[in-house]
Amino acid sequence: TREPRLPEEALASLRGRLRGPVLLPDETDYDRARTVWNAMIDRRPALIVQARGTADVMAAVRFAREHDLRIAVRGGGHNVAGHGVCEGGLMLDLSPMTAVQVDPQRRIARVEPGALLADLDKETQARGLAIPGGFISSTGVAGLTLGGGFGYLSRRWGLTVDNLREVTLVTAEGEPRRVAPDSEPELFWGLCGGGGNFGVVTAFEFALHDLPHPVLAGPVVHALADAPAVLRRAGEIMREAPDEVACLPVLRHAPPKPFIPEAYHGEMILLLALIHSGDPAHGEDALAPLREIGRPAGEAVARRPYVAFQSMFDATAAAGARNYWKGHYLGALEGDAIDVLCEQARRMPGQESSIGMLSLGGEIARRPAASTPYPHRGAAWVLNIQARWRDPREDGAQIAWARETFEAMAPFATGGVYVNFISGDEGESRVHEAYGEAVHARLAALKRRWDPHNVFRLNQNIPPAE
Ligand code: FAD
Repeated sequence: TREPRLPEEALASLRGRLRGPVLLPDETDYDRARTVWNAMIDRRPALIVQARGTADVMAAVRFAREHDLRIAVRGGGHNVAGHGVCEGGLMLDLSPMTAVQVDPQRRIARVEPGALLADLDKETQARGLAIPGGFISSTGVAGLTLGGGFGYLSRRWGLTVDNLREVTLVTAEGEPRRVAPDSEPELFWGLCGGGGNFGVVTAFEFALHDLPHPVLAGPVVHALADAPAVLRRAGEIMREAPDEVACLPVLRHAPPKPFIPEAYHGEMILLLALIHSGDPAHGEDALAPLREIGRPAGEAVARRPYVAFQSMFDATAAAGARNYWKGHYLGALEGDAIDVLCEQARRMPGQESSIGMLSLGGEIARRPAASTPYPHRGAAWVLNIQARWRDPREDGAQIAWARETFEAMAPFATGGVYVNFISGDEGESRVHEAYGEAVHARLAALKRRWDPHNVFRLNQNIPPAE
């Protein structure tokens, strides 16, 4: 794409059509607006449109096409590959659009694309309702949903997209459309995991579930020496666990939290983040097997509001650090895989990196494979190798550790990767692996129908079928 100097009249005319501001490189707020979660990403768009509504999105898409500008779409800005911002081109910043409207009678939430999980969780929980989402509350609803989305409630209620009912989509032609299973079934299917390939979503409508009580949830911490035995047992327990129970084991250096004895601070530990979200009468019994493994060094499992648990680990994943991720799916947490994970934890450079794995299964696995473009419903665990550091001089060592851990775990993986965990340098072949060939081909055909010129290409891109 060529990068023309934008004529003043064209910019003035764009500004006249928009509700939100246009930010140019020398303007106040430009640097703040182009900054995304991963500090590895430092790109300078030619202009940033801060959208306040669907009309702004339509105008921005049309303007980008008229002026031959590449276009990057930013929801919550959390994507590790940094696709929410572009070098040159038009950055469409949806972060001002954060409204969440809950209809408690119909148990529906209508959510704008700049909303974060915290926005969605707070509005739904205020009515005793909930939806499965990720476990760091500053993550964007938009990018998470468009890749499938899973979290602590997914074993109970499926992927985030399993609860999606309809969206408003601005197409590559700059036209708004209602997309739902009854109006555009194939396009709706594609949006349930196919990422930002088909247009810009300006509203998501979700079906909600009842979660009227606090959850029993919190971390249990073990010394690294005990980690292999604890992980093995946790892997066995989760095979039989009720859907209301989820378990997120994380190998990381211990933060200086009051529930962790001081002797462990800064040491490598195994933290199990546990939750029981079901009937409080069954919570203690349901979590007991996981809480009682081995001899925990510390724990802080308690009854707490779901929103409190959702934001409990936010500080460990705040914006501003350099990040590089590699992901796998695992069929089981068992055997030599566990020894490899613990060995790689010992070799982890720096203090902020981690190896996390979330229990899947339950309702995710019960939904029909063909219902969404998410082909990993059979996986029992998703593994995320997260290198995280501050100093650019550490880039080489940190990235090398993540890649080495990824390679070491490859023999135990079921194949493929979660599309939302792909780093920026992994290439087109990794996108094929994220979907598998059959799903990828179906998405490519849909792309040809809805975005034949690949206007929306700054994403985990699916080029239009030939
Ligand atoms: P952005 O960077 O704003 O957007 C990512 C991409 O999505 C964009 O480049 C664009 O291609 C597309 N996009 C965004 N908004 C729109 C839109 N409105 N219309 C069309 N396309 C759009 N994922 C999980 O499933 N579960 C988790 O528990 C989880 N935990 C995470 C924790 C952390 C700390 C982080 C950083 C990420 C986590 N993720 C998780 C991954 C997360 O789903 C992705 O990073 C996702 O891309 C974040 O969406 P966003 O809107 O914040 O990102």
